[in-house]
Amino acid sequence: MSDIEGKPCILCCAITGSLPRKADNLAVPISIAEQVESSLAAVEAGASIIHAHVRNEDETPSSDPDKFARLKEELRRHCPDVVIQFSTGGRSGADQERGGMLSLRPDMASLSVGSNNFPNRVYENPPALVDWLASEMRTYGVTPEVEAFDLSHILQAITMHKAGFLYGLLYIQFVMGVKNAMPADKTVFDFYVQQMHERAPNAEWCAAGIGAQQIVVNEWAIAAGGHTRAGLEDNVRLDKNTKAPSNAALIARAAALCEVYERPVATPQQTREILGLCEA
Ligand code: MG
Repeated sequence: MSDIEGKPCILCCAITGSLPRKADNLAVPISIAEQVESSLAAVEAGASIIHAHVRNEDETPSSDPDKFARLKEELRRHCPDVVIQFSTGGRSGADQERGGMLSLRPDMASLSVGSNNFPNRVYENPPALVDWLASEMRTYGVTPEVEAFDLSHILQAITMHKAGFLYGLLYIQFVMGVKNAMPADKTVFDFYVQQMHERAPNAEWCAAGIGAQQIVVNEWAIAAGGHTRAGLEDNVRLDKNTKAPSNAALIARAAALCEVYERPVATPQQTREILGLCEA
């Protein structure tokens, strides 16, 4: 435990996502102004990475680079050192539209390296698209956060990183609890962590749980020396009967667990150091 106690824990806030709507929880930030306000409160609560999607006014997902540009500019203005991570996830657009904002040079971007099932569809990440997104990230100096919905995605990311295809330090997020993909299973989680230690000892990892599994996976990750993600993209509730009042409330819950496990919450500066990112 001694190498885990005292290790700063990076908290990422997934503020909006593609799916949750105001009808699910009024606190889901949709407009750029709402996203910035929600992000600032989350940073106050301990978040050092903001994972962002953008939306149209009717709440449908967007991949408009102009919206991403405005969000980046506003976040930088209000929160100069926070790590900005854009989503290249597949619900916001088709094919190369998904990477149209990478030329804005966010600090990080999510990257899926394989396909799997989602609740109502196939999450398609064909090799040619994965390679193109990874090459755009190399071109623009964007560190990927690999979203691993399956064990094969972890091994593929390690292979790609060893071959020099992924920019920067290898950072893999285990996503657990998406319906029809990998459930939040502790035995699998422990195996994931073991694989990271054995196959990519210099990498960092984090984990996210969906819905009621968010707080469960937060605790597993914090206890095991990883980093973790919370926020309304993945979960709109504090418990079965209570909607989360804000993104900040979900981050605060994870920050409280860090205290239990004697792990300081990483500042944006520490997060940049741990993940080898440039100054903002
Ligand atoms: Mg996302």
